[in-house]
Amino acid sequence: MEITWTNAQKQRLAAFEAGADCLNKTFSSTVERNRSFLELEKELVAAAKKQLCRLREETKRPLLSRMESELVSALTRAGFVQVSTPIMMSRRLLARMNITEKHRLFDQVYWVSKNKSLRPMLAPNLYYLLVDLLRLWEKPVSIFEIGSCFRKESRGAQHLSEFTMLNLVEMGLPLEQRWSRLKELAALVVETAGIVRYELVTASSEVYGETVDVVCGELELGSGAMGPHPLDIPWGITENWVGLGFGLERLAMAARKSNNIKSYAKSLSYLDGVRLNI
Ligand code: ATP
Ligand code: MG
Repeated sequence: MEITWTNAQKQRLAAFEAGADCLNKTFSSTVERNRSFLELEKELVAAAKKQLCRLREETKRPLLSRMESELVSALTRAGFVQVSTPIMMSRRLLARMNITEKHRLFDQVYWVSKNKSLRPMLAPNLYYLLVDLLRLWEKPVSIFEIGSCFRKESRGAQHLSEFTMLNLVEMGLPLEQRWSRLKELAALVVETAGIVRYELVTASSEVYGETVDVVCGELELGSGAMGPHPLDIPWGITENWVGLGFGLERLAMAARKSNNIKSYAKSLSYLDGVRLNI
């Protein structure tokens, strides 16, 4: 009979992000298996401690924080202006994005009071600012925000209930330049995050209709959209635009080839991708 890891051993190895090769190993005896487990655990603990040591001695900041700084530099160099908007979002603002009772995303919204939610996305706030900025600034107007968003999620390794969104928008560019600009901006973000292999795939989003997804293998890193768009109407916006939203934890997962988003989440159990109960 083939002997596999016990459930407890498998869980422990998975917490260290051991790959499928390792998790699916088989053994000829329980003695051999248990000896292998102890050796492997020792190696994984040593590697995790080394990573924590690197954080303390060299980088000082976790990957997610460093990535955020690098993205801010890259985007501001490309002419984008950073904005910072409230985390609490009104029901009215969500309704302007069609996120009402009938919308799938509505059930994922955390309400702090009858009319206030924790924002599930940044786009409504960016729309709000753009109405004024389009009046005040010459076009194109290019802004971005990086900040926490919240969604009730029941799905596992790629979803968090609190995650960090990067949303960028450029409004007032020539219609025919939208597609090439979207590709250029997707490349800027993904490459700044240190990801080499990615693809653009057209898809359809419940909020934006036709969209483009930026994917790395099976993992969605971000979604992009273009306007003029029906959602612009309530804002009185008639400009051509491109926009992209990325999850920073997803970018970190792809950059580190991790299969567990929790390692890069805001967390009490993980620091810079390392499980602390080692
Ligand atoms: P998915 O289909 O993977 O659930 P989505 O299409 O609902 O994601 P978008 O609304 O397109 O997500 O949000 C833009 C980006 O924000 C996503 O591409 C992803 O990188 C990130 N993101 C969205 N929801 C989550 C989440 N719950 N946890 C972590 N990242 C998320
Ligand atoms: Mg999406």
